[in-house]
Amino acid sequence: MKVALAVALVLMARQAWYYAAGPSGEKDCAPAAPRPPSGTTVINDVSCLNPTSVSGIVEVQSEEDVRRALESARAHGVKVSIAGARHSQGGHAFANGSIVLDMRRSIASW
Ligand SMILES: Cc1cc2nc3c(=O)[nH]c(=O)nc-3n(C[C@H](O)[C@H](O)[C@H](O)COP(=O)(O)OP(=O)(O)OC[C@H]3O[C@@H](n4cnc5c(N)ncnc54)[C@H](O)[C@@H]3O)c2cc1C
Repeated sequence: MKVALAVALVLMARQAWYYAAGPSGEKDCAPAAPRPPSGTTVINDVSCLNPTSVSGIVEVQSEEDVRRALESARAHGVKVSIAGARHSQGGHAFANGSIVLDMRRSIASW
């Protein structure tokens, strides 16, 4: 009983630490959320509760990257989502099927 309680406390502390930490790395968040099928591109917010299938993720490093991504989205009639630090929670940040402009690299370097 004590061992089970200790394990539960450790797991809860680990998850609390994860939620409180700065956003870095990929957020497939298993086992809290199911892993997406291979071959699909899925993005999640910091809560790990909002896996969203997207068309693709562009790691923006320059204005040219943004221009090209917007041109492509317009040509294909695809919505665009923007990821800052991906630290919001609630599922509002990413649209299904959208192209995601991931600004993390560019924000770090600008
Ligand atoms: C533990 C925790 C504590 C928090 N505490 C606070 C708090 O005290 N105060 C508070 O205000 N919030 C708080 N938040 C919420 C979160 O930190 C904010 O929503 C934060 O501003 C999200 O910024 P982001 O760059 O991670 O945006 P993302 O999660 O990446 O995106 C959120 C929205 O911003 C838009 N966006 C992001 N980057 C850009 C860009 N470069 N250009 C245009 N649009 C962009 C996206 O399109 C999206 O709609 C907290 C969240 C957590 C998990």
